[in-house]
Amino acid sequence: MLTAVFLLSSSPVTNKKPIAVVAGDGIGKEVIPNAIEVVKASGAAVEFTHFDWGADRHLADGTTIPPDAFQMLARDFDAIFVGALGDPRVPTNIHAKEILLGMRFKMDLYANVRPVRLLDASLCPLKNATTADINFTVIRENTEGVYMDMGGVFKFGTPDELATQEDINTRKGVERVIRFAFEYARSNGRKKVLMSDKSNVMTYAGGLWQRVFKEVAKEYPDINTQHMYVDALCLQMIRQPQSLDVVVTNNMFGDIITDLAAALQGGLGMAASGNIHPGRTSMFEPVHGSAPPIAGKNMANPMGAILTAAMMLAHIGLAAEAQKIEDAVTQAVREKKKTADVGGSMGTRECAAWIGERVAR
Ligand code: ATP
Repeated sequence: MLTAVFLLSSSPVTNKKPIAVVAGDGIGKEVIPNAIEVVKASGAAVEFTHFDWGADRHLADGTTIPPDAFQMLARDFDAIFVGALGDPRVPTNIHAKEILLGMRFKMDLYANVRPVRLLDASLCPLKNATTADINFTVIRENTEGVYMDMGGVFKFGTPDELATQEDINTRKGVERVIRFAFEYARSNGRKKVLMSDKSNVMTYAGGLWQRVFKEVAKEYPDINTQHMYVDALCLQMIRQPQSLDVVVTNNMFGDIITDLAAALQGGLGMAASGNIHPGRTSMFEPVHGSAPPIAGKNMANPMGAILTAAMMLAHIGLAAEAQKIEDAVTQAVREKKKTADVGGSMGTRECAAWIGERVAR
């Protein structure tokens, strides 16, 4: 299932769509160049510009991301392709926060879209699950919730210490992500939107989500609706994943359930995501992190990054190239041309090269 949602313009000079690349740290530096080779093999009319933001640059000169970068990215590029950020040499993870959360917050990329699709039954840890059973999309609110870093501590380090972490939910933020989920369902042939929260305990925030969900749903009589507490949803994802279609939820619950969802499709190495604001430059990144233990060893699974590249192409209007890439990844899984994390024996480069060769045919 591709995610062609909103189209942006191409560069008037070259007629190729400009894409900014931040490979970042760890396995990001391996999977992103390999995914780019696959995109090139597809013949997609895109032009990549590389930025060296990441731990190496930060350690060399203190840069996390230049202050004018967000404006420049929004102005000059149709999409941003990011690998992973995080490096044990930067224990505060400050560069990762400023680059990744900076893009999400400062570019207001409010919808985190995570397609959950099983490409081959062999990848799924569930007994007897078929590819038809696992095919849904999670839309995670991406700019609010507990990620806004609001809160504080009182009597720090004493036995009486008190800590608060605020969960921010604005009417505007909740409404736009719920509307996005309905629009996504409509434009991708989906039939149902399920909203998940914990409104039995988080009554104020959950109450807002409940009211807004019911109101927005009235504008989409062609789409069925459902509500589920997030704990019940976790159970449902394992017992009846085939009942899910489009799921919309807040930032924290989305973070948690999409790791569970990644497991259903074969693990972190298989999962793709987009950080989207309709009509603006959006950012695409594989769900996995920088995976320091396997970085630099040609072991990382490049499929998540390659599927992310396909999602990005579909988003900027190159659906045919995106489909070719998705088909080639599916074929690679079926023919066991894959890395060790998903039961294969190939290296990162060899796996990506096989996919690229298939795409070029
Ligand atoms: P970060 O802090 O950057 O999120 P992390 O190590 O905490 O990094 P992940 O990078 O998401 O978290 O990965 C956790 C583990 O999952 C890795 O150490 C690795 O074993 C496995 N993993 C993640 N991505 C891949 C991949 N693309 N290919 C193979 N294994 C992977």
